[in-house]
Amino acid sequence: MSGHTNMTLVNENGIRVDGRAFNQHRPFKVNAGVLKNADGSAYVEIGKNKILAAVYGPRECHPRHLQNPNKAIIQCKYNMQAFSVSDRKRPGPDRRSIEISKIIAEALENVVLTELYPRTSIDVYIEVLQANAGTRCAGLTAAAVALADAGIPMKDIVSACAAGKADDVVILDLNKEEDNYGQADVPVAIIPSTDEIVLLQMDGNMTREEFDNAIKMAIGSCHELYDLQKEALKKRYEEKEEDESS
Ligand code: ADP
Repeated sequence: MSGHTNMTLVNENGIRVDGRAFNQHRPFKVNAGVLKNADGSAYVEIGKNKILAAVYGPRECHPRHLQNPNKAIIQCKYNMQAFSVSDRKRPGPDRRSIEISKIIAEALENVVLTELYPRTSIDVYIEVLQANAGTRCAGLTAAAVALADAGIPMKDIVSACAAGKADDVVILDLNKEEDNYGQADVPVAIIPSTDEIVLLQMDGNMTREEFDNAIKMAIGSCHELYDLQKEALKKRYEEKEEDESS
């Protein structure tokens, strides 16, 4: 997010580096139940982002001192594979992945009925296989589907998409160049049935009016993702029924 570059991110016709219009998101793909051995799983592509999420639980909480007698805790591990970015990423947790894990767990706590499973842990693993900006949103979107696939009671799922600003234009769903050289990046996650915002961050600067526009576009995109998330879960459910009847 430098905001200082000679690179044109939005040209005079309003077209972005990858050919999109200001209000166009990248292609979305959502699959549920892609891993056999996890309790629940999902695979999400947002443009060039490729992300797997797996869920275990509710299960006994380790380490034990984290147990909550009143509800389950959600433990999230967001991890970027070494081969997920153009230069090899040093494996293992870093400040960024710890922060992203925390905000994703907090967003999910708004929908999971944790009070039904006191003293347990619901473990969410997010593996970034390929990254191109927007991985926290794609990871959260995948994690929500994986939780539902695991059959964990939730009041709704969570859908997430970013918006931002580049070359003084408010744009939807920033890619890597726009994230690196643009002026602002605003990841947003909502509970689609109520439009309640459960994650909101901002890197860079925008005016109040630009911010309102960015939020509006991001929420619109979340609703499109929501339809795909529900479709993926429905498909998975139908497959399960077929498996059981054969
Ligand atoms: P998000 O992926 O949610 O947009 P950031 O804004 O922190 O989160 O990162 C933007 C993008 O920068 C990532 O999606 C990834 O493509 C790239 N990136 C992040 N961390 C690294 C890293 N350690 N090495 C190389 N590229 C990285």
